[in-house]
Amino acid sequence: MLRLEVESTRVTGCLLRLGGEEVTVRARETILAAGAIWSPVLLMRSGIGPAAALRAGAGGACRSAWRG
Ligand SMILES: Cc1cc2nc3c(=O)[nH]c(=O)nc-3n(C[C@H](O)[C@H](O)[C@H](O)COP(=O)(O)OP(=O)(O)OC[C@H]3O[C@@H](n4cnc5c(N)ncnc54)[C@H](O)[C@@H]3O)c2cc1C
Repeated sequence: MLRLEVESTRVTGCLLRLGGEEVTVRARETILAAGAIWSPVLLMRSGIGPAAALRAGAGGACRSAWRG
């Protein structure tokens, strides 16, 4: 899995690499269970996380999931 697909504030599926091809899978519900390290990495790749870190690394679009 490369990242979650997000529309507005809702996860609508994920982007996968399958056999060298990138494939978008849409789902009503998505469970991210990539472990303690990769779950936050995938969230940040999807633009979800601390806004300052996302702005520094993601070059634009970000949705801060952190309050305060
Ligand atoms: C050495 C060690 C010993 C442990 N001993 C115990 C113990 O005795 N008792 C206990 O309760 N807990 C133990 N733990 C902790 C336990 O392993 C974890 O809490 C548990 O495995 C977490 O499960 P998880 O499903 O969240 O993540 P994980 O088991 O880490 O599974 C995540 C999965 O996601 C996959 N993944 C990651 N990124 C991607 C991606 N981009 N695309 C597709 N797949 C991806 C990984 O390959 C992996 O298969 C131990 C951990 C370690 C490191």
